[in-house]
Formats: sequence, structure tokens, C-alpha cells
Amino acid sequence: MQDVGCKWYGRTSLLSFILLSFSLLLVACAAPEPTAVSQVAPTSTVAVLAPADTATPFPTQGPPATLTPIPTITPSPTNTPTPTPTFTPTPSPTPTKTACDQRIPPQDDLLVIVSQEFGLSRAYEPADLVPIGPHFSRDITLGYPTMVREDVLDPLVNMVNTMLDAGLEPYIISGYRSYATQDATYNKWLNLEPDRADILSARPGHSEHQLGTTVDFGSYRLHDYIDDSFDEKLQFHTYFYKTPEGEWLQNNAHLYGFTLSYPRSAQEVTGFYYEPWHFRYVGVGNATALLEGGTSLTEYLLNQDPEPCLN
Ligand SMILES: [Zn+2]
Repeated sequence: MQDVGCKWYGRTSLLSFILLSFSLLLVACAAPEPTAVSQVAPTSTVAVLAPADTATPFPTQGPPATLTPIPTITPSPTNTPTPTPTFTPTPSPTPTKTACDQRIPPQDDLLVIVSQEFGLSRAYEPADLVPIGPHFSRDITLGYPTMVREDVLDPLVNMVNTMLDAGLEPYIISGYRSYATQDATYNKWLNLEPDRADILSARPGHSEHQLGTTVDFGSYRLHDYIDDSFDEKLQFHTYFYKTPEGEWLQNNAHLYGFTLSYPRSAQEVTGFYYEPWHFRYVGVGNATALLEGGTSLTEYLLNQDPEPCLN
């Protein structure tokens, strides 16, 4: 594999660190109101919508619209015993110019760009999907028939077991989602919130979950951090990042090859709201380089000038 990231990373690491620091300062100063973002989970019993302007994380502390939670995500690159970050695979998102909704990525490319612009074919389904059920207790899988690509299974099992050993209480909400499932999910959101559907849920073909390398995590302690008014079945809320499980993932997921796809600081680049629960497997070297470089996967891949697709 050609190493293209070392050079990129080396030249920009200091600047990135400064920019990251500045970004965090900006976020701290001008963070948007906490957004309760719920998604339609694999079963229909858990989706509860709480629009941003109704979120009331601390009902006794003033109007919700002015709440500006200070991000607690402050990874300290110098204290993290990580391997030298390198981008191992050379991204080649599309071998030929293809319609945005017809792309079929090569199986061995973990760095396929999937974004609001770059989509996947309805026909694309990874060939090596495996169920995670046999590897976890029902407390972790919630009984869902979740699948991921084979390469993701071991890192996922190792990571979750490490979390459990540390006394954390994570669970797995979803992994692979087919085009058809995403279509149904998106359409539910379109009915619930027509104006915000595109940023709350990926359109079919534009979800990283279709790659089979992406996992949404939950925390059994989420409701300790959000308002009582939320449905007890709510699984997705921006305050996931405040839970011990969310905090641990932000600081350690890269050690197992997972990257946070939609960080708060990258909302404009990714086109999605902050999703502190949504992690994509890209390999340890790549995930570490992204975290330490302070950049999102989408931003990195766009900077590689991916082959434009035809709209
Ligand atoms: Zn997700």
C-alpha cells in the first residue's frame, strides 16, 4: 500500500493542532444549542424525535435555547500511546466516473467516500457481512440482527469487551444498513421533519452504514444525562458524548480503528449534525491520523480530490 498520509500529516500536524484548538475554542464560545437527535433505529419502537429547539437538558437552569454545553472532548495527542499515524490505503473512491447513486466501491478500500454528494448504488452490499450476535450478549446487541463486515468484527468485539472490562455500559444500536432499510429510515424522517430530514438522516445510498463498516453505539446511562421528558426508549441524543461510554469512545475508538465520522466541528463539511455515537472502521493507522490531525474522514477524503461523480 502506498503511504500518502505521513507526508500530509507531517506538514500539517502543527497547523491542524492549532486549528483544532481554535475550533474547540470557537465551539466553546459559540456552540449551538444541544440537539436532541434521534434516529430511527432498527426497530420501530425507539424513534422519538426531539427537535433542537425543544431540547431542555437542564430544565432548572434557564431557557434551553441558550444552553451551550462545553465540549469535553479534548483528546490529548501527546499522551496517547498510539502507533505512528499513517494513512495506509490509497483512496481511490471510484475507478471510473460514475453516477453518484451508482457507485460500487472496491471491497478492500476502507476509505471510500460516502457523503451527501457521493453515494452508493442500490445494488451495493458488502460480500462479507457477518452477524455480531454470536459474539455478544443480548445486553449489547439488544437482540437486533446487526451485521458488520468481517474485517470489522474482531476490532469491534475487542473494543466493546475492553469497555465492558472497564465497567462501562455500552450497547450496539446498528451496523450494516441496506439501501432499502436506509430508504425506509430516511422516508420516516422526511415525514416527521421534512426540512431537516437531510441532516438528521442520510438519504438512501448516502449512508456510511451501507458500507458495513459503521456502527452506532448507545449507552445505558444516556438518560442520566438528558431531560426526564425524553422517552425512556430514546437511544440517540447529542449528550451521548457526555456519557462515560461516549467519552471513552471519543478518546479510545481510534486505538481499535474506528473514527468519529461526524464530529461537532465538522458539521459544515460533512453536512450532518454532530453524531457522537456514529463510528466508522478505517483501520488503526487511519483513525489515529484523523484524530491527531483534528480532521474528519469526510474532510480528508474530499481533500484527496475524489473522482467526481455524475449527478
Ligand atoms: Zn450511524
